[in-house]
Amino acid sequence: MNIYDIEATKILLEKQPKISIIPHKNPDGDAIGSCLGLYHYLKLHHCDVTVVSPNDFPDFLKWLPAADQILIYDNNPKKATEQIEASKLIFTLDFNALKRADSLTPLLENSKATFVMIDHHQEPDDYAKVTFSNPKASSTCEMIYAFIDAMGNKNQIDKDIATCLYTGIMTDTGNFKYPITTSNTLKIGAFLIEKGANNSQINSNVFDNNSYNKLQLLSTALKNLVYIKEFDTAYITLSSEELQKYDHQKGDTEGFVNYGLTIKNTKLAIIFIQEGDFVKMSLRSKGNNDVNLFARKCFNGGGHVNAAGGRFDGSIEEAVAYFKQVLPDFIHKNM
Ligand code: 5GP
Ligand code: MN
Repeated sequence: MNIYDIEATKILLEKQPKISIIPHKNPDGDAIGSCLGLYHYLKLHHCDVTVVSPNDFPDFLKWLPAADQILIYDNNPKKATEQIEASKLIFTLDFNALKRADSLTPLLENSKATFVMIDHHQEPDDYAKVTFSNPKASSTCEMIYAFIDAMGNKNQIDKDIATCLYTGIMTDTGNFKYPITTSNTLKIGAFLIEKGANNSQINSNVFDNNSYNKLQLLSTALKNLVYIKEFDTAYITLSSEELQKYDHQKGDTEGFVNYGLTIKNTKLAIIFIQEGDFVKMSLRSKGNNDVNLFARKCFNGGGHVNAAGGRFDGSIEEAVAYFKQVLPDFIHKNM
């Protein structure tokens, strides 16, 4: 972490401003973990701080300490609006462009607050006074650890902070298995365990939390899986009817896309999920196949080299047809 940015952030905090911390839309373990980790740290420093999320987050994160204190715009737009309008300092975590805050985007764009971005996605936009960007970091939670360390306060990391940060590192690294996982990531994980993160319990809270319906939906997704041998590509579709049949809840489809990548030699895996009049897509890849570029160019999205998301306006059939049309070009450029 750049020492000048750390000093600048210290000065911003010294003014004891009202603070909001914002994750991206459809926040995942890293987004919620990093927001709450920073929240607990700032609370230790007696800051007036609130986490404001654009929309609700999955049940498997609701047990996190202070998760019940998160203000959700979709559930309480008036209070969330007042909170953001009154904030003098806004941390945006785990996203690199204000449009990723969805329903909060106009409020953030109109805000007079000073912004601090902490994020590990590529190509951050230039809206923040202080930008901590590190695409080599496994997770934003790893960056929050580095931030607290650079503030000189590593010894203040307590059980609550450690639990939140461990959760995000664990989920964003796929249980410490993706190539982005370094020896440093594991050292930080070990440190957080020493500070009170119960690794086994956290794992169980997050992953042993399936409903019967979710497993039925997974079986439908796997039945729908198509493998295109020519391009070593797997894709899955889930229609609105299929989601409804199994009473789809937020977060139920998280991780489904990874099953495609477990087929031997797969280079690219995609899931298409119908969400009303558009299709939400998750893309995963192995090696140098850059799905961030693919999602940016073809699906109005982005993310990381090996994990990205995007959307297509239209039906699933149209999305798949368009995908098959642009796939050969992507594969040929990358291999
Ligand atoms: P997921 O597929 O799990 O939703 O997201 C994978 C990665 O891509 C995450 O880092 C996420 O923040 C990012 N991502 C997902 N959807 C979008 C999108 O629509 N736009 C951008 N820029 N990034 C996305
Ligand atoms: Mn992340």
